[in-house]
Parts: sequence; structure tokens; C-alpha cells
Amino acid sequence: MNAPSDFTDFSDETTTVADLKRLVVRFAEERDWGRFHTPKNLAASVAIEAAELLERFQWSTPEESFAVKDDPEALNAVAEEIADVASYLLNLCDKLGVDFASAFAAKMRKNAEKYPAERFRGFYNADDPAYKNAQNRRCEEKTS
Ligand SMILES: [Mg+2]
Repeated sequence: MNAPSDFTDFSDETTTVADLKRLVVRFAEERDWGRFHTPKNLAASVAIEAAELLERFQWSTPEESFAVKDDPEALNAVAEEIADVASYLLNLCDKLGVDFASAFAAKMRKNAEKYPAERFRGFYNADDPAYKNAQNRRCEEKTS
């Protein structure tokens, strides 16, 4: 798909990452904004937009954060911030020649090696107190 300029007819099922990259690049080119889009500025913009996304959940209880899904206005606001983060990420990928899909897959492979499912199922990482307790129990079982 060539990214249409009317911004309609996009969905995860029919749109590629390359389509989204072209859309972001064309948007910047039409406004001559490319000269502002240094890697440093784009990385900062990712962090700024991520903070705006986080702000949508500031002070929310876990239950309230899930309830956003059932509030169309709040969900749209969150989706807009997600899109802001993604647009700067894709722009950064374009500027640095990073193939997003291959970088994503490589990092997921690295994460899978670092956190094997059979060891980390139910634990957020090795600092999780429940993980440490489980490891201690495992050691005690081996030594007894
Ligand atoms: Mg924003």
C-alpha cells in the first residue's frame, strides 16, 4: 500500500510498517520539517510523547487504567498518544536506517533468551520477590 494522504483505510491487518514509515516521512516532507528531525530531537520526542501517554494514567488505580478500554473518549486520547510515540519512533527508524520489524524481532529473541518462559512464567523479572523465593525453594530442594 502507498500511504494515502487522506489518512483513511488504515488497519493493523492491512497496513505494513513500511506504509506507516512512508506516511510519517511524507508528512514531514510536505511541511519541510525534516531539518528539525535530528535523531536526538526524535529520541527526545519519543520520551516526551511517552510521558504524555503516561499522564493519561497518572493517579489511576489498576482497575481504572483498564477501564479506559470502556470509555471511548479516554481510549481515543490514549490512542492518540500511542500514535504520537509510534510516529516519532518510525521517523527515528527512517532517519537512522533502522528496519523496525527486524530490530523488534531481534530484541524479542534476546528477551526470550534472557527470560526463558519455563523459569520466568508468572515473575516480572529476577528482582521479583516471588521469583527469588521460588529460586531459594529450588535450591533448598536440591540440597535436602
Ligand atoms: Mg501527544
